[in-house]
Amino acid sequence: MSHPWDKLNEEEWEKICKRCGKCCLYSLQDEDSGEIYHTNILCRYFDLEHSLCTIYDERCTIKHDCLKLTKDNVDKLPFMPKSCAYRRLFDKMYEDKPTPSIKGRVVNETQIGDDWENYIVDWDDL
Ligand code: SF4
Ligand code: SF4
Repeated sequence: MSHPWDKLNEEEWEKICKRCGKCCLYSLQDEDSGEIYHTNILCRYFDLEHSLCTIYDERCTIKHDCLKLTKDNVDKLPFMPKSCAYRRLFDKMYEDKPTPSIKGRVVNETQIGDDWENYIVDWDDL
């Protein structure tokens, strides 16, 4: 089956990302039901001021649970936010416009305790 991104080169693929950081928010998964719950807990390596990952080139080495989004896995990651530009491309709902910022709505993972369930959010723009 062909996908809208099949013809994109690496540079074009990278440019699709809006650098919104929503995929850098942690998700929790119910062990029994498998249901995914998004949180507003942000990865320690995301720079909110500049909207970028501060360890981008080494992200999968330094942070072992950080997944590199590729053309092969983009449609297989249930925790990706629905508003993610890649996911919208897959869902054939892609629009070339910025998404609402997460700034002011998130907490850094280094600033909280073990009560991650208390940070579950249900944002419309996730
Ligand atoms: S390491 Fe970088 S890309 Fe990975 S979740 Fe953290 S901020 Fe996001
Ligand atoms: S959610 Fe999608 S568009 Fe936003 S930073 Fe992550 S990969 Fe890029």
